[in-house]
Amino acid sequence: MAQNTCLWWETAPAPNSYANKPLPVKTDVVVVGGGFTGTSAALQLAKGGARVTLLEAKTIGFEASSRNGGQALSCLHLTLNQAIKEHGRELARDMFLAATYAADTVERIVTDEQLDCDYLRCGNIEAAIKPAHVDALKREQETLREVAGYEVTVLEKNEIKSELGTDSYHGLLVNPRSGSVQPAKFVRGMGMAAERAGADIHEGTRVLAVDRISDSPVSDGSRFLVKTNRGDIHTKEIMLAANAWIGNIVPQFRQRVLPAESFIIATEPLPMELAQKLIPNNRVVYDTRKTLAYYRLSPDNRMVWGGELTFAGINPQTNINTLRRGMLKVFPELANFNLDYFWGGTMGITLDENTHAGQIDGMWYSMCYVGHGVTLATYLGQQMANGILGKPVNNPFNDLHIPYVSPFRENAWVVNAGKLWFRFLDMLG
Ligand SMILES: Cc1cc2nc3c(=O)[nH]c(=O)nc-3n(C[C@H](O)[C@H](O)[C@H](O)COP(=O)(O)OP(=O)(O)OC[C@H]3O[C@@H](n4cnc5c(N)ncnc54)[C@H](O)[C@@H]3O)c2cc1C
Repeated sequence: MAQNTCLWWETAPAPNSYANKPLPVKTDVVVVGGGFTGTSAALQLAKGGARVTLLEAKTIGFEASSRNGGQALSCLHLTLNQAIKEHGRELARDMFLAATYAADTVERIVTDEQLDCDYLRCGNIEAAIKPAHVDALKREQETLREVAGYEVTVLEKNEIKSELGTDSYHGLLVNPRSGSVQPAKFVRGMGMAAERAGADIHEGTRVLAVDRISDSPVSDGSRFLVKTNRGDIHTKEIMLAANAWIGNIVPQFRQRVLPAESFIIATEPLPMELAQKLIPNNRVVYDTRKTLAYYRLSPDNRMVWGGELTFAGINPQTNINTLRRGMLKVFPELANFNLDYFWGGTMGITLDENTHAGQIDGMWYSMCYVGHGVTLATYLGQQMANGILGKPVNNPFNDLHIPYVSPFRENAWVVNAGKLWFRFLDMLG
C-alpha cells in the first residue's frame, strides 16, 4: 500500500528552518513565494547586492517545487512547430532558446553553489504513442535544426530498445541536453544558497495584500506596503513567485491562472539489472499525449511515474490505480513490485499553455511553466531578479495575452473537465 507522502521529502536531509524570525520593517526587495522561482530570484538578488526578504507562506519548496518529477527539461511545453504557429518564427525561437539557457542555468547553479541534489545531465525522451506521432517528431527535429540550430535524435520503432525496455511506443525523440534533479534537494539547496548570499528568508509568512504607497516613492524609496499574517514591510520592489496562488495577491490574475494538480507514484527500489533494462541510459521520459505520462528512475532506482488521466478531489486510490495501470501497460515487469509512495502537487496554468513573466502594476512576476518549471522557473526567477537589479533581461515570455478562464477559478473541476477534453483530443489525434 503506497504511503501518501512525497518520495523526495523522505529521501532529502532535514530542511533548514526559517520560521519565527522577526520581520524587517523595510527592505529593498520582497520576494513572495519560496519555490524554484522565488529561491532563484532571491539568490540572484542577494548576489547582486540587494537587500532581499523572501516570504514563504509554508516552508521552502513545500508546494510544486519539491513534489515534481524532477525532469530538468531543455525545451518548451509546446513543440517548436506549435510555438511558431502561435507566436511566429522569431519569438518562438527565442522562447525555445530561453528554455535551453534555462537547462544550462540549472547546471550552473548546481555547480557554482555546490548543490547536492543528484543532478544529472541525462537527456530526455519524448515517446510516440501513435505511428503518426513519429512523423511529428521528425518534423520537430527538422525545425529545431533549421530554426534554432539545435540537435536531437529520432529513433524508429526497431531502435527503441537502446533507450527504453518496452514495445509500447512507435518511435522516440531524444533531447540530450535535458537533465534530472532530486527536486526537494534542489529547491532547498537554492534556498540555502540564497541565505548564504545574504537573503533574509521567512517561512510561515503569508502575504495577504500589497498596497502601492504612491506612484512616486516616499523618502526612503519604498513604493509598496506588503501586508502579511506576521506584520507589514515597506519595500522598493516586489517579485511575485507564488505561481498557482498569485491570483490571491493580484486580482487581475485571479480568473486567468488556474491551479492544476498532477499526481505521481513511486515503486519500491528495483533491482539494478531491471532498472537498467527499462531505462538503460537513465533519461527522463514523457509521451506525446496531451494527458501524458512522465516518468524516470529515482537515484535509488525506483520507477517514479506521474501524469496520466488523474483528477483533483477524487479518492486517491482511483488515481493510484490509473497511474499503476499506465505504468504496467508500458512496463509489465513492474506488476510484482510494491508502490511505496503516492503524492500530488499544484502548478499554475493558463488557458494558452504559455509561460508568463514580466511586470504588472510595477510588480515583477514569473509563473505558469506547464511542467517545465525545474528549468524555466529557475531561469526566469533569475532573469526577473536581473530586471530588478537594472541588469539586462532575457524574457521572451513578456507581455503575452493571458486568456480569461471563468469565474469558477477556485473549482478544481474546471481543470478536471479540461483534462477530459484533452483525453478526447488524444483519442482523435
Ligand atoms: C506533480 C508535479 C510534477 C511536476 N513535474 C515536473 C517536472 O518533472 N519537470 C518540470 O520542469 N516541472 C514539473 N512540474 C512543475 C514544476 O514543479 C513547477 O513549474 C515549479 O515548481 C514552479 O515553481 P514556483 O516556484 O513558480 O511555484 P511553487 O513551487 O508552487 O512555489 C510557490 C510558493 O509560493 C508560496 N505562496 C503562495 N501564496 C503565497 C502567499 N500569499 N504568501 C507567501 N507565499 C505564498 C507557496 O507556499 C509556494 O511555496 C510538476 C509539478 C507537479 C505539481
